[in-house]
Amino acid sequence: MKVLVINCGSSSLKYQLIDMDTNNVMAKGLCDRIAINDSELTHTVNGVKTVIKKDMPDHAAAVEMVIAALTDSEHGVIKDMSEVSAVGHRLVHGGEKFAGSVLINDEVMATIEECVPLAPLHNPANIIGIDACRKAMPNVPMVAVFDTAFHQTMPADSYMYAIPYEYYEKFKIRRYGFHGTSHKYVAQRAAEILGKKLEDLKIVNCHLGSGSSICAIDCGKSVDTTMGFTPLAGLEMGTRCGDIDPAIVTFLMDNEKLSTKEIDSILNKKAGFLGLSGVSNDCRDVEAAAKDGNERADIALKVFIKQVKKYIGAYAAEMGGIDVLTFTAGIGENTIWMREAICEGLEYMGIKVDAEKNNCRGKEVDISADGATVTTMVVPTNEELMIAIETVELL
Ligand code: ADP
Repeated sequence: MKVLVINCGSSSLKYQLIDMDTNNVMAKGLCDRIAINDSELTHTVNGVKTVIKKDMPDHAAAVEMVIAALTDSEHGVIKDMSEVSAVGHRLVHGGEKFAGSVLINDEVMATIEECVPLAPLHNPANIIGIDACRKAMPNVPMVAVFDTAFHQTMPADSYMYAIPYEYYEKFKIRRYGFHGTSHKYVAQRAAEILGKKLEDLKIVNCHLGSGSSICAIDCGKSVDTTMGFTPLAGLEMGTRCGDIDPAIVTFLMDNEKLSTKEIDSILNKKAGFLGLSGVSNDCRDVEAAAKDGNERADIALKVFIKQVKKYIGAYAAEMGGIDVLTFTAGIGENTIWMREAICEGLEYMGIKVDAEKNNCRGKEVDISADGATVTTMVVPTNEELMIAIETVELL
């Protein structure tokens, strides 16, 4: 069975065609600069890239190009689209309406529309992508997989904010959490690797990338997570501020005479590693600058490490213990010294990393030291595979 996974952004479309019998990625690619200019499709098969430059005035044109690339006589991997059993779509926000993945129909589309105010930048692009795919492949079943769905198991004392209750009733302001597909995948994979039942484990998963979040997973269910009403909350990120005193927002707006758009842009695009270090949003650049003696870069990294450490402690306290600590995503999978720095001093909790085992990147490895009572692991995330798995399960 072959599943096409689609992830639509406002001006991009990422895709992967996955053979679910082997979990093999047959082809993947990116349509970039849709509806802008100089749009191009990069199509990759077995590491070989083909770049096709062609105008993509909208997402429908991008979907046509993806279909053409997948079925091309030279760089294609299938004869025609009838070989594709289903399409799995990544959606950012399912609000409180979706606690799991769903088969897409008109009613589901209407409900996804209702969630647009919660993710005004992301959901409209996702909807356009689904519409384009439904038109191009009318007979192929499609599934929506939401970043927020996994966290719908959080109890109210994790998701409610202590602001007037009417705002929850009026606008559904609450913690939703994101990266759910990744947190779910890593938790399931960790249990599989350890040969244990997910239901028997208390897991803290650290998804550390350009966007970062941590999730407390008890018995396979998300019970708390660092991102909130939006993906701006929680940890310091590449360009996002993470948790700050909310009074800073009004203070800055008053004193710098900022509009809501401007403050939003500062906190989402000019903060985090970039804003604090003044160097870059990329952790590797910040690390290089810190090594060269840049103090702001050094503090940007230290702030991040301390925040991760604090949340590990908080979530262990919340769950009444921790069995497994997992690291995933760009930073979590690749930054050896940072994993060590995060775990340093947590020995009293049973978390201890073996320097030699920890000397790994992007691989599934148990990095715990002898005598550690918590299993610390690196588990590379695979959101596309998880979307494809959910799609197959729903069919
Ligand atoms: P996203 O998918 O959210 O765009 P990633 O999970 O790819 O982000 O994470 C990007 C971050 O991971 C960057 O800050 C980057 O510096 C860091 N990183 C560190 N080492 C690597 C590596 N070898 N490959 C990719 N990213 C890395």
